[in-house]
Amino acid sequence: EKEYELVFDDEIEFVVGNKRKGKNKKGEEVGSDDEKKLPVYAYRQEFLDAMKDHQVLILVGETGSGKTTQIPQYLHEAGYTDYGKVACTQPRRVAAMSVAARVSVEMGKRLGAEVGYQIRFEDCTSEKTKVQYMTDGMLLRCFLTEPDLKSFSCLIIDEAHERTLHTDILFGLVKDIVRFRSDLKLIISSATLNAEAFSAYLDDAPIFMIPGRMFPVDILYTKQPEADYVDAAVVTTLQIHVTQKIGSGDILIFLTGQEEIEACAETLTMRTKGLGSRIPELIICPIYANLPADQQAKIFEKTPPNARKVVIATNIAETSLTIDGICYVIDSGFAKQKSYNPKTGMESLVVTPISQAASNQRSGRAGRTAPGKCFRLFTAWSFKNELEENTVPEIQRTNMGNVVLQLKALGINDLLNFDFMDAPPAETLMRAFESLYALGALNDKGDLTKLGRRMAEFPLEPMLSKAVIIAEKYKCVKEILSTVSMLSIGASVFYKPKEKAVHADQARMNFARGGGGDQISLLRCYNEWEENDHGTQWCFENFVQVKSMRKARDIRDQLAGLCERVEMEETSCGLDNFEPVLKSFTAGFFFNVAKLSRSGDYTTVKSRTTCYLHPGSVLAKDEVPSKWLCYFELSFTTKEYMRQCCPIKGEWLVELAPHYYSGEDIEEAKGKKMPKQRQYNKTR
Ligand code: ADP
Ligand code: MG
Repeated sequence: EKEYELVFDDEIEFVVGNKRKGKNKKGEEVGSDDEKKLPVYAYRQEFLDAMKDHQVLILVGETGSGKTTQIPQYLHEAGYTDYGKVACTQPRRVAAMSVAARVSVEMGKRLGAEVGYQIRFEDCTSEKTKVQYMTDGMLLRCFLTEPDLKSFSCLIIDEAHERTLHTDILFGLVKDIVRFRSDLKLIISSATLNAEAFSAYLDDAPIFMIPGRMFPVDILYTKQPEADYVDAAVVTTLQIHVTQKIGSGDILIFLTGQEEIEACAETLTMRTKGLGSRIPELIICPIYANLPADQQAKIFEKTPPNARKVVIATNIAETSLTIDGICYVIDSGFAKQKSYNPKTGMESLVVTPISQAASNQRSGRAGRTAPGKCFRLFTAWSFKNELEENTVPEIQRTNMGNVVLQLKALGINDLLNFDFMDAPPAETLMRAFESLYALGALNDKGDLTKLGRRMAEFPLEPMLSKAVIIAEKYKCVKEILSTVSMLSIGASVFYKPKEKAVHADQARMNFARGGGGDQISLLRCYNEWEENDHGTQWCFENFVQVKSMRKARDIRDQLAGLCERVEMEETSCGLDNFEPVLKSFTAGFFFNVAKLSRSGDYTTVKSRTTCYLHPGSVLAKDEVPSKWLCYFELSFTTKEYMRQCCPIKGEWLVELAPHYYSGEDIEEAKGKKMPKQRQYNKTR
């Protein structure tokens, strides 16, 4: 059924695997995207009756059946919001925002009025809000200010199958709270069928099933392993686009992150341009966490008849977001996952093979409105032998410092006996205690200190909140707030258009002049922007992303408000003497200190791991490398890269982290010859 006779020299050969079975048992009319046709709709009354009879319900339904968008509305219409809000948690910020926007349209209300969302650093709710979407982390924070959650009447812990760290902790807290608040309704909502575990955990709560409406999906595997899945995704997209009838469905590609998605989008744009009018239009829509909201909305726009849409997504589109009209899925087989080594205490984001369960979830996205095809960019052998059966819950592979601090602040002291659905490894908990002790948040009995209590007020990782609070001592609160906000944006601050790369680099290095590494460069950038009246033109001239800057300002405003709450004065040290800022940063990030070794590489002081200065660091251009570096985060791509680094002094460590560093750690470096010339790795 080839529509266009185009041959690509890099064509990929696929072999057919097992079909994913459809579940369209009644032969009901399908293919409509009418909201009333959502599977959940037929069960509205049954669901509300079950809610009347039970305090806790496990809700199970295929992705796209309407759980997230409809259930909160049903509860609202049934009067549950008369005595409190309905909260619906989402593991991802983008999902919370996007779903809230959709529901506000369905209800015909302005977003932020009756329907709103709350994510970290952004509160789009008001007095009027009845239905509130929020990240699971935000609901966790609610327990700090309102331990009985009395402003809520119903809690929906949505996407429970994702088993994020915050969701898992919420399980323990809500299980406890429903015991003494008999008027509070609790729904655990999940897209996968192994809901028995949730039911068993919640004292055998009943399971409410929404039968799905799934069409069969053909699974195709590559014949050979593909070395570059981004490239393979591009080729496969073009193959589908030219061989499959226009109107037969849109394409959804799963990649691991923003950079890959942008690269894929760019290559696709170039290659389709090259083919010109020989192929129909291909509408390219990227979606990832930091994509501006207006562009996020684009993925939901209906595809015009003579075109095809290709959505390039992270695993956000696996279950959190449903895009109608997808009939082709291209699965890279990878996702970015947090990985934590409790032995070294190092956490990094690593591109990891997904599980078989996740891959099956992805393929299911092709069969929602019609029979579909899923192209797996790996071999059938690899699926069977190299992918784990299920994804490991985040709680078992992450650093728990922040959560332990919050639980301690909630008065939950005996964490080893906390009612976890799946307990974290004891080692991970011990590591969290140790690091909070080293930060001074816990005392030697494991109790929260005054510093720890203040740290828990900030919606930041403990290392960041420590940096903020210690700045009081070094009289640089103003500077650290700006620095921390810039570090917390989560998106890049600087941009570098290809045709102006040299200018962009120059602009970037202007902020670095005067020293202090990436942290102080970010601070200079923020200050200058502020001095220039938060101007857009200034951003443009300096190759700075205006959206990132605005976000930094929002974050900063909120952190400044919290400083007031813990009675911290906004002291300032100015920019000429930035040592106090670096000291404050190091007081939080002393775990992340690396020392230049004789071979010219950097080695972390305690765990002795070799890591490399990220090529994007302003320090990467320095002639003489700093003996000591303190970094913000480690990211593992081809190597362990330190991102956002500043030069520090070894002597500071004993002063700033006496529980962690001894004189010996510092001494060792002395007396040994340091290489004069920079030899460390020059990648990229
Ligand atoms: P579930 O939670 O069961 O996976 P949802 O309630 O998220 O299902 O989705 C139900 C329907 O709502 C889907 O058809 C989806 O396309 C639509 N939908 C969800 N979010 C949006 C949005 N932001 N814009 C347009 N449609 C949306
Ligand atoms: Mg959902």
